[in-house]
Amino acid sequence: MATLNPNYGKLEAGYLFPEIGRRTREFLAAHPGVTVMRLGIGNTTEPLPPSIIEGLRRGVDKLAKVETYTGYGDEQGNAELREALAGRYAGYGVTLEPDEFFVSDGAKPDSANIQSIFGADNIVAVQDPAYPVYVDSNVIAGRTGRAVHGQYDGFIYMPCTRENGFFPDVPSRKADLVYLCSPNNPTGTVATKEQLAGFVAYALKHKAVIIFDAAYAAYIADPALPRTIYEIDGARDCAIEINSFSKEAGFTGVRLGWTVVPRTLACEDGEPGALHRLWFRRQTTMFNGASNIVQEGGRAALSETGRRECQAIIDYYMTNAKVIREGLESIGIEVFGGVNAPYIWMATPGGMRSWEFFDKLLHEAYVVGTPGSGFGPSGEGYFRLSAFGHADDVKRAVRSIQENLKL
Ligand SMILES: *Cc1c(COP(=O)(O)O)cnc(C)c1O
Repeated sequence: MATLNPNYGKLEAGYLFPEIGRRTREFLAAHPGVTVMRLGIGNTTEPLPPSIIEGLRRGVDKLAKVETYTGYGDEQGNAELREALAGRYAGYGVTLEPDEFFVSDGAKPDSANIQSIFGADNIVAVQDPAYPVYVDSNVIAGRTGRAVHGQYDGFIYMPCTRENGFFPDVPSRKADLVYLCSPNNPTGTVATKEQLAGFVAYALKHKAVIIFDAAYAAYIADPALPRTIYEIDGARDCAIEINSFSKEAGFTGVRLGWTVVPRTLACEDGEPGALHRLWFRRQTTMFNGASNIVQEGGRAALSETGRRECQAIIDYYMTNAKVIREGLESIGIEVFGGVNAPYIWMATPGGMRSWEFFDKLLHEAYVVGTPGSGFGPSGEGYFRLSAFGHADDVKRAVRSIQENLKL
């Protein structure tokens, strides 16, 4: 007799985006003829630049000829692609070997799967608010009890608040796995080298492992801010980094990412190299590699032309971010983020609850955003706006907020 994995029954999130959709549809049904403007989605909107399209076509063409056809590829990903990734880190002053990279179909699956190489009794610490997959994957794996007031029993929540500049202090007790995301989704804030160094020192002291999600690293314009955790001394002994072509190269639908598991990475009962071996084992057992066509696209994205073209698209989104930031500030709304990250984190007017503000923004300005409370209890009283969108749509939405939102 088959039974259900009872841990799925503990999940509270997943409620966020369906609920946004439900409320939006209900509003549209009650107000025929109205169009809503979306500043809610963390999804890219601009087409792929020419050099990447060319790379993808090259990948397709190779499959058409017997001389260049390939089936299953290198287990860790195309060797040239991993060389190019190592080259990118070299540009940050970081030395990593190509065999420390594992190419994948995206950062979300890697973020969800990485927990499987750690013990079931590991204590997990997460930023609050956070990208939901870190929490949910560990709930499904059985590392928590039920949620009480939005917090799962067994997790260490690290509140990210106005008071700490939306980056947490290290936990006051021992955690084994520490998830960090910088530039952060949803708060749009970026950790400094000093802040990351604090976590690296903590991890080394407790033999903990940091899982660092750098999916928005390419949005950092300030040269003083770290684009990878490996810019911090000691990080290669205690940190795994996960990244993606999704937000920097518009691959949200194409699907390509990578995870760095350094060979020097150790943990409490695993000598240097043990975690690298386990991730290799996990990936070769449960994953058969990213598409060879897509990996050609990834190589093109990392070429000099590709990087220049992708940067132009990032600049385009960051102009949207500036429009949103300045537009909201002009009507006295307090905003955070949106400078080295494509998300703007706004304090709801008068400390209104996040969902209450969602309804207000929808009904008064016809704009859809994302309630901060959907990312964790410390997101209550905040709201996320996204810079991904066509510039004209973003401008129209901001104008509508300025003209129609009753403050
Ligand atoms: C969008 C996003 C990702 C990207 O995931 P993919 O599966 O590569 O598309 C990863 N982490 C965060 C925090 C994100 O917002």
